[in-house]
Amino acid sequence: MAYMFDIDRFVDERSLSVSVKNKGLNYGLGCIEGIRAFWNDREKQLFIFRLEEHLKRFHDSGKSLFINIPFSVEQLSHITKQLLLLNQVTQDVYIRPICFKGSNTLRPKLNGSFNHLAVYTDLSEYEPKPFLKVCISSWTRIGSNMIPPQAKPSAGYMNSALANNEAVMDGYDEAVFLTKEGNVSEAATANIFIVRRGEVLTPPMSDDILAGITRGTVAQILHEEMDIPVIEQSLARVELYEADEVFFTGTAIGIKPVVEIDRRVIGDGQIGPVTLKIQQIYNQIVRGEMPAYRDYCTSLY
Ligand code: PMP
Repeated sequence: MAYMFDIDRFVDERSLSVSVKNKGLNYGLGCIEGIRAFWNDREKQLFIFRLEEHLKRFHDSGKSLFINIPFSVEQLSHITKQLLLLNQVTQDVYIRPICFKGSNTLRPKLNGSFNHLAVYTDLSEYEPKPFLKVCISSWTRIGSNMIPPQAKPSAGYMNSALANNEAVMDGYDEAVFLTKEGNVSEAATANIFIVRRGEVLTPPMSDDILAGITRGTVAQILHEEMDIPVIEQSLARVELYEADEVFFTGTAIGIKPVVEIDRRVIGDGQIGPVTLKIQQIYNQIVRGEMPAYRDYCTSLY
């Protein structure tokens, strides 16, 4: 049996009952966070990666969306650790905090009802393919003045799911969004980077992206371990096609090379040297294998 945290206690995750009338369910009035913990077999230890940063982002999302999280970052951190201990996790695991409007009344309103907080775990592999072939979506990324993608709103994932669905139905693995202005934004559930003549570029926050925590870690790896600065700059679609390397970053997906975009082969169609090096370093960092980054890893046992 797997446990989850629901409102104020740990319960069997199958026993949860949310009414079909629930406002969060009906209108997507919620926000989510996505955290990962990595098993280090040599140390027999589970490391939760950048737990505090994820929980702070969760709090910021709640504030922006008027879905205030009913627990402090410290309390959420404690709940997360307790949940992993209860579930006796000894493998890589995804952790999903969610907070949504708890009321069952009809109107789509953000005020007045209690905010239902839950945390659950998931052991399945998110994206088993080592390389991705992607397309530019016909769906435009939601703008900051529509449903702010910076705040991980549940409702924003309809936009992501439509883009992913279209991509998969058309024979691609994933989709890349453009903004309403036509700049490259992000993938359905990941940020995007390109490598071009030794430079690494990624779209800025103003191009309707989530400020990914993996994106931040990658910028740090590039700066501190590879002496390459990251340039935050709006990118045109064609700059993707002409890049030497393209990769996605995200908690669930990790560092994932993109080898084809709209049927154009990127570089030589294999993982590029910069992407490979980042991937190797990132995989060591998250498992607590690089002492300089050990502070990012909260150990469980
Ligand atoms: N963009 C979107 C829309 C996402 O859902 C995610 C996954 N959380 C990301 C980017 C990557 O963010 P992070 O590295 O913090 O997981």
